[in-house]
Amino acid sequence: MQPAFKTDLVPTMAPAEGLCWYSAVGRPQPGILSPLNAQSVCDPAGLAPGAVCFVAIDPASHGEEIATLRDCHQDSVYLIAVTLVEPDAVWQANLFDAGADDILFQHDLRQRVPCLMRAKRHLELRHQDEAWRRRMQEKLDIWQEGLDHLPTPIYVKDVEGRYLVCNTAFGHFLGVSSDHVVGKRLEDFLPADAAATYSASDTQLLRQGGVLRTETDVCLPESGMRHIMVHKARLVSGQGDIRGVAGVVIDITERKELESRLTEAAERDPLTNAFNRRKFFQVASEEITTAGPDDVLGVAVVDIDNFKSINDELGHAEGDVTLCSIVDTLRGHEARGMQVARAGGEEFFAFFTRDVVTQAQDMLEAARHDVARYCQVHTGAGVAGTISVGLAFFKPSEETIDQALRRADVALYKAKRDGRNRLCLAD
Ligand code: GH3
Ligand code: MG
Ligand code: MG
Repeated sequence: MQPAFKTDLVPTMAPAEGLCWYSAVGRPQPGILSPLNAQSVCDPAGLAPGAVCFVAIDPASHGEEIATLRDCHQDSVYLIAVTLVEPDAVWQANLFDAGADDILFQHDLRQRVPCLMRAKRHLELRHQDEAWRRRMQEKLDIWQEGLDHLPTPIYVKDVEGRYLVCNTAFGHFLGVSSDHVVGKRLEDFLPADAAATYSASDTQLLRQGGVLRTETDVCLPESGMRHIMVHKARLVSGQGDIRGVAGVVIDITERKELESRLTEAAERDPLTNAFNRRKFFQVASEEITTAGPDDVLGVAVVDIDNFKSINDELGHAEGDVTLCSIVDTLRGHEARGMQVARAGGEEFFAFFTRDVVTQAQDMLEAARHDVARYCQVHTGAGVAGTISVGLAFFKPSEETIDQALRRADVALYKAKRDGRNRLCLAD
């Protein structure tokens, strides 16, 4: 409350908020205050914030009366020590130590007005300060309210890793109320090794500055395993002091799952779940680009024998089942290093890296035997559901993969011509 002084210095406010007279020893209001309408207050607690209080000081006092009022009201009142005898320097120092804002010698009437002007100025400044503080608090409240309504966890830590502020969502993220986060550190919520990893990245950020983006898996008390992205920034004051780290935690679990489903869909054939042509050439090109001049790689073209007759006699659905079981049988050999992809229809490609190329023929023969054993179907047209294979070896330094696949295709047709269910090597 701002005290309103008129030019004649008579307060227009309620007594407790304006000029008061307090005497611990019951001394009556001195003549110095009578023209100012000062009200007498007997109880030290009876002063309202913003009061200018004249405190009669006993000559033997060290300022105990002042100290009592100061203890009771801290900075909210302006205390003028009124001395009946002229104070010497030591006494003045004692009174200031006890908490006096000003000292008035009762008989020096000329000092009365300057003393009140100082009180007025002090209280005006205090009022401005309070108004500023109120505005800042309002702003802070609005910010906190806004942050608390957001579903994204947000926090600020000091340089020691202690949380200074956070929003409600960050409390939920750690499985506690946000009030329980402030003043604590990550170690109080996470196992020591996980907390140490985050602290290390905070230390790095505090050293190098700027913004850091990290992605990681976390196991949360309420929602279990989540994939999160943390955006962190180093905080530096206007004076250049490093204040700490601000962070935002973005839960990207659903996005990650969608991404991996999309990647899966882009790489795999939906019916058989084998790699598609695109992925086949991507895998092959990674190997080809790192191949040395003498490295040899292998490609094979695999085609199901008499597959049309399965469709024709047992139905397309049964054809699909056979197709899938042949792919599963072929992929049973992927662990040995044979990479299988559906080239289209009932035709497949196989790729062999330089590390396994010497076993390519063995692997394909083993796969062919397995397919003949587990997937063969007898139709009216004869045996179906076996595979014929054309295999070509090539040096990426001398031949492209397309050229090698063409030679493998020629070898496949030879295998078909020679009676099917067999492997032919390309020329
Ligand atoms: P060959 O031994 O000479 O390869 O004889 P084939 O019957 O296997 O070859 P052909 O090219 O005459 O027939 C291939 C058939 O495969 C025709 C097509 O309808 C069938 N097919 C292609 N893709 C699929 C599929 O996804 N599901 C089913 N059920 N059939 C498919
Ligand atoms: Mg076929
Ligand atoms: Mg075919």
